[in-house]
Amino acid sequence: MGKASYHFNSQTLIYEEVHHSIGQKIWAVLKQLIIGIGIGVILFIITLYVVDSPRERQLKKENELLLIQYGVLSRRIDEYQKVLDDLQERDDQLYRAVFNADPIPTSIRRPGFGGTNRYEHLLDISNFELVVSTTQKLDVVTKEMYVQSNSYDELIELLKRKEERMNNIPAIRPLPGDLRISSGYGVRVHPIFGDLRMHTGIDLNADAGTPIYATGNGTVESSGWNGGYGNCVVLDHGFGFKSLYGHCKDLLVKRGQKVKRGQKIATVGMTGVANGNHVHYEVWVKGKIDNPAKYFFMDLSPEEYNEILYIAEHR
Ligand SMILES: [Zn+2]
Repeated sequence: MGKASYHFNSQTLIYEEVHHSIGQKIWAVLKQLIIGIGIGVILFIITLYVVDSPRERQLKKENELLLIQYGVLSRRIDEYQKVLDDLQERDDQLYRAVFNADPIPTSIRRPGFGGTNRYEHLLDISNFELVVSTTQKLDVVTKEMYVQSNSYDELIELLKRKEERMNNIPAIRPLPGDLRISSGYGVRVHPIFGDLRMHTGIDLNADAGTPIYATGNGTVESSGWNGGYGNCVVLDHGFGFKSLYGHCKDLLVKRGQKVKRGQKIATVGMTGVANGNHVHYEVWVKGKIDNPAKYFFMDLSPEEYNEILYIAEHR
């Protein structure tokens, strides 16, 4: 026996017993059930989207920390960029200038990475802008560091060349002891022919047999009889420099031989057109003859150098 239900009849003003069919009863139960499930589902969805699970709370926390880290990283890269800017400026204006190397053009120093297409794979990330700008800055710094590193490699090469050049150019006196210049560089009355002639080197008097030194590292271009120069040595120092030693008594080097600055290559004599023992010394720079006294700078004080230069041009 189920509970009886009543209906209030407003006309008769009495409660009348209502009789339900089985179908109606089943429907009533089903209705309750559907409403219950519906409310359950709604509550479940609300919970799903509004209230975080412990795992979600953990992930959110980690995400916030990552964002903070990204911010720190981004500022660090800015600092590196400043240091790099400073290095680049010093490189262009000081180091490269010292070695006569041109500054590196801005187009090479400051690479462009052509919009954000390159970073398309990052588009799905929630903090897209921060991630892209940080990645972009890192790419720029990396590229600029690569360029800078190459510049230093180039400078090391130039330095090596400069050292080699310094060791090769004729820069000492070819004879030991004090210089006795008997004839300077330039137009003068020829001691033997008696007419005005260009004197293409300087004549340094010394006793016969006095050693003659190579004035810079190089290779022997020729060593032998050379007309009016008599026994003569010509050295090729590279970098456009050559030196010549004339009127020698003995020749101590052979063609093709490598010589070092200060190495004994010949002895003083008076072979060829000469009226006394002396070495006729010439310096050639890129095919043009020059005043050799200009190249004595390595073993002279500035005062001595000026005096020698004066004597060499006025005697
Ligand atoms: Zn001479």
